[in-house]
Amino acid sequence: MTFQLSPEQEAIREAVHEFGMEEIRPVAKEYEADHRYPSELLSAAADLDLVAPHVPEEYGGAGMDAIATVLITEELWRADPGVGGSIAAADFGTGMLLEFGDEWMCEEWLPPITAGETPIATGISEPAHGSNVAGMDTRAEQDGDEWVLNGNKMWITNGSVADVAIIMAKTSPEKGHNGITAFLTETDVDGYDATPIRNKLGIKAQDTAEIVIDDLRVPDENVVGEVDEGFYQLMQFFSAARADVSGQATGVAQAALDEAVAYAQEREQFGQPISEFQAIEHKIAEMATNVEAARSLAYRAGAALEAGDDALATRLCSMAKLFASEMAVDVTDEALQVHGGAGYVSDHHIERFYRDARITKIYDGTSEIQKNIISEQLF
Ligand SMILES: Cc1cc2nc3c(=O)[nH]c(=O)nc-3n(C[C@H](O)[C@H](O)[C@H](O)COP(=O)(O)OP(=O)(O)OC[C@H]3O[C@@H](n4cnc5c(N)ncnc54)[C@H](O)[C@@H]3O)c2cc1C
Repeated sequence: MTFQLSPEQEAIREAVHEFGMEEIRPVAKEYEADHRYPSELLSAAADLDLVAPHVPEEYGGAGMDAIATVLITEELWRADPGVGGSIAAADFGTGMLLEFGDEWMCEEWLPPITAGETPIATGISEPAHGSNVAGMDTRAEQDGDEWVLNGNKMWITNGSVADVAIIMAKTSPEKGHNGITAFLTETDVDGYDATPIRNKLGIKAQDTAEIVIDDLRVPDENVVGEVDEGFYQLMQFFSAARADVSGQATGVAQAALDEAVAYAQEREQFGQPISEFQAIEHKIAEMATNVEAARSLAYRAGAALEAGDDALATRLCSMAKLFASEMAVDVTDEALQVHGGAGYVSDHHIERFYRDARITKIYDGTSEIQKNIISEQLF
């Protein structure tokens, strides 16, 4: 086992870091203020193979491994969680298509997604059912060689900007979690109506939407994977999504740490830079140690995914997500504290990072749900 990134992975990190700090960070505040989805930057990132980088080359991707995928997400979030996160969001959904989609789905949709021409959305959560995925109310009923979908999806990333979406629906409601199916649909069709949610705490440049699904017709060939197998498909795909969130959390925490170190050296009180107070030095040391610990766990989760060890990957991806997201909320809080009053206003980036970090404890399974998953493996 090696604890070093390969020279190739280091080179990828450097390239993404450069792109992030030169192209994303300088404009991030504007996108956040306008709640504007960064389509232009999605195209620029695609030119560097940063959109869904795990997708194989034959479908327009770069065929990168799971660790490289996590570290790309990390650097994109380090640049800015709203804008960088919009780019990294293509990881969610493409994994499901690759793993379970038919060949035509991959050929038709993965090239425009990796080219940054369209985002993809994945609709699982609903107004009344978030953590309890198996409780979903959205229904799909067969009508000849089509399925008719009805229901509501809530908090869907890319829901109003994507040209294509995967929608989870109950096909055999009486069978509970054994009766859920994934459907691929274009979004510019009757029956798919998305409304952006604009009053979020953070990641404001990212698109999050509520989707009303009203007699949405999908041909039989648009079933992703097998009928009634959607819940199990999701569980498999969630491990990669959680490793990705651990990269997001590590990235925003590193960004906060960078800001805190720089500010502590600039700001003087009592005739000396505040970085010379031991209280500040120790705060920074603890923050750096926690970021590094989260990063190690995130890459180990990536390595477990890469090794194809499902049980280990499930455990490590949940542990990495839990630890990194809790850490990111704490580290951004401490970094804001280092800024004093200046951290409480939007003149510095830290106020935004503090708000952005909070989402990592909620989506792709809350911290409480991660603890349930981890403990299930221990007893
Ligand atoms: C910005 C954003 C983007 C999102 N993107 C997507 C997306 O692209 N696709 C998608 O499908 N969803 C998405 N979500 C939804 C997200 O996955 C859910 O919000 C999350 O799973 C929690 O569900 P909930 O909000 O309904 O909370 P609830 O499930 O109502 O949970 C409320 C509280 O109860 C706790 N709780 C619930 N059940 C248990 C339990 N069994 N044990 C212990 N505690 C429990 C939770 O941990 C939480 O603290 C997104 C959400 C946000 C905010």
